[in-house]
Amino acid sequence: MIYLDYAASSPPYPQVVEKMRDIMCTSYGNASGIHPMAEKSRLIIRQSRRTLAELLEVQPQQVFFTSGATEANNWAVKSAMAAGGKRHMIIFAPEHSSVIAAARYMEARGFELTWLRPDGDGLLSSETVERAIRPDTGLLCVQAVNNETGVMQDVEAMAQLARKKGILYHCDGVQSFAHCQQPLKLPDFVSLSAHKLGGPAGVGALIVRRPDLISPFIHGGGQELGYRAGTENTAGAAGFATAAELAFEEKEREQTRLERLSAQFVSAMKALDERIRLNGENAPRRAGILNFFFPQISGEELVLRLARADICASPGAACASRDGAPSHVLMAMGLSKEAAGNSVRFSFGRLTTEEELKETVNVIRKILGKGE
Ligand code: PMP
Repeated sequence: MIYLDYAASSPPYPQVVEKMRDIMCTSYGNASGIHPMAEKSRLIIRQSRRTLAELLEVQPQQVFFTSGATEANNWAVKSAMAAGGKRHMIIFAPEHSSVIAAARYMEARGFELTWLRPDGDGLLSSETVERAIRPDTGLLCVQAVNNETGVMQDVEAMAQLARKKGILYHCDGVQSFAHCQQPLKLPDFVSLSAHKLGGPAGVGALIVRRPDLISPFIHGGGQELGYRAGTENTAGAAGFATAAELAFEEKEREQTRLERLSAQFVSAMKALDERIRLNGENAPRRAGILNFFFPQISGEELVLRLARADICASPGAACASRDGAPSHVLMAMGLSKEAAGNSVRFSFGRLTTEEELKETVNVIRKILGKGE
């Protein structure tokens, strides 16, 4: 099988699996207890929080474990708006569906939203954001890296602008953390997810610059400094921290390798048909996420035919690919419904080889009916 859907979920590091297995067998105490087995869990969670904080260059008490980035995004958007006392929020149109749905939830409760579209390459300028700011703006949501196109936003410029204007800045950092060099210590809130970087699914974190700016999200216990109730996922937290450490260790080497693979894949795809386009081609992009428009075949059809050849790709985000709607990300970039529907994301990472990408291009060549 050729797996090219890393942006949806990535293969866990063997060391992560081993670490989690070990913890589940030997440190299964409820961290809230007062006996030695509970103490073991508490220490593991404390160390995992510390590891993530160091990698992010923040303080451990700013790291809150969650069930994933969907929860972290919901928490940040709902609670920051409710706590801030302001009624207006600025949201980037290509955000992940969990940011969008949380914002819509707030809108239904009387908050006002301004949606900002990117340019044709998927980029948002800070001038566009500045023009949308009003006296009652409380929150700005702009992701670090788009999960469908890999387009990177200027997190530093967004953070500086928000600070200057006295607005909170939430940044979905899922596809950035441990993958590229954006300054994730700057935003007020950052959402992270373990399974995008070789850790387990169902674990994530919300990084909060000032915990007094946010209110508790899940009630019913004193865990996570009283902000997020529920028995801690000890093995999950350790799996997340272990994966992040490993991903950071190989980050620069991996980035260089993925940039080379990405460049080769793009030119091989374009050589198949000059009308095949890379969506977001002229924007700064994270290596390893490529989204192509195909002139003669729908994204869904291509993905299904690739699946028959045991190749895994995705027509847009995994969270949206089952509803069959054309990508809101590509449409916000100005692609027509048809062009968005004819696009496919290939995302790859640590275990992807040059041979696998060559084989994928060969299979696509056959599907498109192009000769050798
Ligand atoms: N934000 C982005 C940018 C993502 O790619 C994803 C995963 N599809 C999420 C949020 C949601 O993360 P999780 O799967 O941990 O809920």
